[in-house]
Amino acid sequence: MKNSIFFFLAILFSYPFFISSCSGDATVQGAAPADAIDTTDIEYFLSELSDDKFLGRKPCSEGEPITINFIKNEFQKMGLEPANGDSYFQKVPLVEIEAAPSEGMYIEGGKQDLKFDYKKDFMTFSQQVKENINIKNSELIFCGFGIVAPEYGWNDYAGIDMKGKTAVVFVNDPGYYSEDSTFFKGKTMTYYGRWDYKYEEAARQGAEGVIIIHETGAAGYPWFVVSNSWSGGLLSLQSPDDNMSKCPMEAWVTFDAAKRIFVNSKINANNMLQKASEKGFKPFSLDMTVNTSIKNTFKKDISNNVIAKITGTESPDEYIIYTSHWDHLGVGQVVNGDSIYNGALDNASGSASMLSIAKAYAEMKEKPKRTVIFLSVTAEEQGLLGSLWYAENPIYPIKNTVANINMDGAAIIGRMKDLTITGFGQSTMDDIAAEEAKKQDRYILPDQEPEKGYFFRSDHFSFAKVGVPALYAKGSYDHRAKGKEYAMGKRKEFTTTNYHQPSDHYTDDWDLNGAVEDAQLFFNVGLRIANEKLYPKWKEGSEFKNVRELKN
Ligand SMILES: [Zn+2]
Repeated sequence: MKNSIFFFLAILFSYPFFISSCSGDATVQGAAPADAIDTTDIEYFLSELSDDKFLGRKPCSEGEPITINFIKNEFQKMGLEPANGDSYFQKVPLVEIEAAPSEGMYIEGGKQDLKFDYKKDFMTFSQQVKENINIKNSELIFCGFGIVAPEYGWNDYAGIDMKGKTAVVFVNDPGYYSEDSTFFKGKTMTYYGRWDYKYEEAARQGAEGVIIIHETGAAGYPWFVVSNSWSGGLLSLQSPDDNMSKCPMEAWVTFDAAKRIFVNSKINANNMLQKASEKGFKPFSLDMTVNTSIKNTFKKDISNNVIAKITGTESPDEYIIYTSHWDHLGVGQVVNGDSIYNGALDNASGSASMLSIAKAYAEMKEKPKRTVIFLSVTAEEQGLLGSLWYAENPIYPIKNTVANINMDGAAIIGRMKDLTITGFGQSTMDDIAAEEAKKQDRYILPDQEPEKGYFFRSDHFSFAKVGVPALYAKGSYDHRAKGKEYAMGKRKEFTTTNYHQPSDHYTDDWDLNGAVEDAQLFFNVGLRIANEKLYPKWKEGSEFKNVRELKN
């Protein structure tokens, strides 16, 4: 996603092919079918997809048809069935919005009038497909963290009508500021802590605007990430109402700007973080208004997900979905003489892993009992758009979609001892993954940076949001031969020098045995679920549990 671009750290996967004999499952006859996954296949798909001829795989660019046809042809060669009628494609209608916000944001009605500067103090954006957005005298309401979470008995919008008003909210959730790990999820960011949630909730409340207060620790990234991410053209999904259900203004301010707003209020606006974190918090007016405007230009376009399947032999109407995003950033700013953002790790490597898994399924003599789907999604980098579109416009019913396994980045430094599960503890998928990891003589690690909300930053999250239990894991922190420090060093090195840079190339010194081992694990987890009758479940305390239970 545009934002997640920056958060997404190095992505290391793992898979060896000689060790996989121990992943042979009792339910599978003969040699373990996961053995079919090897470095040769992964390397072929990876080196192809990250080649310059794909032009950085940007949605709706010249690189798109080259990319999606490559993936389609590979599916076809493997003998997989098209999964959208007789087509391997699902159209994803996108709209690119380029916002030109007014250079100033004006706060009136306090002790004095305040003027904030674009980019330095604030960022504004609008997803509404509309040329002129004018925010005039919109009353500022302090809404704490902007959260409505019945399971925590929490409502930051209690008793207030937000029509024509602008919510001022802190990023993250109250748990982040408490020492109590059972208050929300303590330091672990819940979905309520994310900016996307805050925009969605403010829209549900009918607010005219929402202003998120940035704080580096709580957001998980510094201000420049906000100011880079929310400027320039941004893609979103087309909708029948042209996004009129979204807030006209979505904004961020720096922590300093927020302090200036609070100090300027004639009402007592001290200790706002503390107030927002108290149980029973009620929203209140700051007795000031905000004035600003945004000029939007937009362009509509169509991108494509690629989708193939193997129809199940016994329960064809129940589905396991593997996902990986095919898109990257395209051709852009020249860095060290190179302008093609090849996205070899992000995410030619995850795509290559998924294609290798698909090939292994296609080669199996005994086909899975449930239907297994391979979905290569577009526009992840722009906000998980391809997967969101699928989740909202599913080809196969969501309530019969048993599980999702997502791959975004593979292990490129060799075999890993850990399997790090992002969002560990959310669902019983973790338990299945742990059993399969044990067979590979590996151990499970929960997120190492749970406060950063990585669970909400790749395509599995689009499935979680509609209630489908999802697994997002990879070998990340503990190299089998060279240990933890080595793995951490490599991770850092990739993040600082190659992440979202033209230098994210495939090179011969990548060791894909880790990628093979992870892909075999995902194959085994998927196959196990495909041959079972049970549905994986969200665990107690998961913010997605209710969604699943209400849908079924
Ligand atoms: Zn990615």
